[in-house]
Amino acid sequence: MGLSDFLFELMVKLLMAILLRGKTVCTLCGKPIVENQEAVGFPPFVSNELDPLQIFSDGAFHASCFWGHPLAMQAEARDVESREKNPPLTRECWVCRRTIDNPDEYLGLGHLTDDARESIHALNYAQFHRACLPGWTDRGKMCALLEEFMNSGKWKGPKLAQILTELCNGSSGYWNARLQQRDLRTRASWI
Ligand SMILES: [Zn+2]
Ligand SMILES: [Zn+2]
Repeated sequence: MGLSDFLFELMVKLLMAILLRGKTVCTLCGKPIVENQEAVGFPPFVSNELDPLQIFSDGAFHASCFWGHPLAMQAEARDVESREKNPPLTRECWVCRRTIDNPDEYLGLGHLTDDARESIHALNYAQFHRACLPGWTDRGKMCALLEEFMNSGKWKGPKLAQILTELCNGSSGYWNARLQQRDLRTRASWI
């Protein structure tokens, strides 16, 4: 059993421990999940609030409510994909191609879009050593794509702005200046 499997099982056990208290409410039906009821739970695996799978992110559900939902299979597939793409022990930096073994060094984009026609689709699950970003030649291009997508109306929620700040606000002078200008002009829309 790999570490990611171990962590997932641990998470399920912790979730079950929480469920056993009978305080967790099923997001789909609004009723509590009580002891001995079969349950399904997910980590926060969807960041875009416009994504139809957002309802499952960081949620717990009666198994019957979950499997009765028309998007259940999609949610499970995305959850599996996100764990496969970000295995804690073998995360590979897109810049230096070395393993990112220190969590403090890790910066990941996670899932951005399912739409393969979006240019940002190629950036799904991109991951980096923080230290590798300032010298990366494609950084400006990536930042431009992320910014364009954030402003396209296809994204809602704070994650993309956080990523842009961390990814593009470092020592890249051009982007730093652009983001600061933007920040002054439209601070409200960034938050
Ligand atoms: Zn329910
Ligand atoms: Zn690296």
